[in-house]
Amino acid sequence: MSYAPLPTWPAEPEPRPDCPRCHELDEQRTTAHQRGDLTAMTDCNVLLRRHINDQHTT
Ligand SMILES: [Zn+2]
Repeated sequence: MSYAPLPTWPAEPEPRPDCPRCHELDEQRTTAHQRGDLTAMTDCNVLLRRHINDQHTT
């Protein structure tokens, strides 16, 4: 019997290279990662995922 993977981090959303908003949030996330701010990283992922769902889904 195998264990299901634990629900830790949700998969990180993929920023669109041609979108300024994606780029902005991706930079914020990178900055947060560099200073070890997991809360800010999670916030950026939430914002980025929401933005992608709103703007980049057909
Ligand atoms: Zn975008």
